Amino acid sequence: MSTPLRVTVWNENVHERKHEKVRRVYPDGIHTAIAKGLAAAPDLSVRTATLEMPEHGLTQDVLDNTDVLTWWGHMAHGEVKDEVVDRVHKRVLEGMGLIALHSAHYSKIFKRLMGTTCSLKWREAGERERLWNVAPHHPITAGLGEYFELPHVEMYGEPFGIPTPDEQIFISWFEGGEVSRSGCCWQRGNGRVFYFRPGHETYPIYYDANVMKVMINAVRWARPTVRIMDQCPNTKPLEIIRSDDPAKG
Ligand code: ZN
Repeated sequence: MSTPLRVTVWNENVHERKHEKVRRVYPDGIHTAIAKGLAAAPDLSVRTATLEMPEHGLTQDVLDNTDVLTWWGHMAHGEVKDEVVDRVHKRVLEGMGLIALHSAHYSKIFKRLMGTTCSLKWREAGERERLWNVAPHHPITAGLGEYFELPHVEMYGEPFGIPTPDEQIFISWFEGGEVSRSGCCWQRGNGRVFYFRPGHETYPIYYDANVMKVMINAVRWARPTVRIMDQCPNTKPLEIIRSDDPAKG
C-alpha cells in the first residue's frame, strides 16, 4: 500500500463553543465532522488543529508533515496570527495543497493567496442550492452526476472578488435567484488551492455524502507533486561567457 496522504483539518472552533444552535449540528466541532468524513477514505491520514492550540496547531513540524490543509474559519479570521499565515503561505508556495471552505473566503490565508478582496453577497434564509458540475472530466467531480443539491444553505452570490480561477469546477444556483462560482482551482507557486463554497455552521453540510465526496476528491487532487524551498541564488554560468560586460571595469 502506498504512503497515506497526510491531511490536517483546521477549524477556528469558535461558533461551536459559543452558540447552542451550532453545537446541536456539530457537537464535537466542524473539524471533527470533516475529519471523520475524510477518514472514510483509506488513503487519507487525517488530523485536526484549532485556533486555541499553541500556534493554532500549525507549527512548522505539523506543516512539514501535512500534504493538504483544509481551512474553516468565520468569526475569528482576525485572531489568526500573521506569523502562522506567513508559515502556511510559504508551505503552499513550496507545494502543500490548501482547501478553503465556505467562509474561509475571507480568511487571511485565502486573501493572501488570491491577492484580491474575496468579497461576495450573502443571505441566511435556509434556501436550496444546486451545484452544477461544470467540469465532468475533472478529478474533483469524479463519481458525481450533472449536479447535486443541498436543501438548506446560506447563499453566497456573485460578484465574488476572486482572480479568475485556473479551472472552474462548480457553479451554484440558489433558490433566491443568485449564482456563484462555488468550486474553483488555482495554482499558487508549487501548491494547489481549491475553494469549496458549502459549509455554513448551522446546517449539517459536512454530513452530506456528495459534499464529502468532493472534499475527498479535492484533497487527493491537491496533493503535492514536489516540495521546492524558496531561494533566490546568485549562480555560476553553465557555459563560458565570451561577451564583455560593459558594466565592468
Ligand atoms: Zn456561513
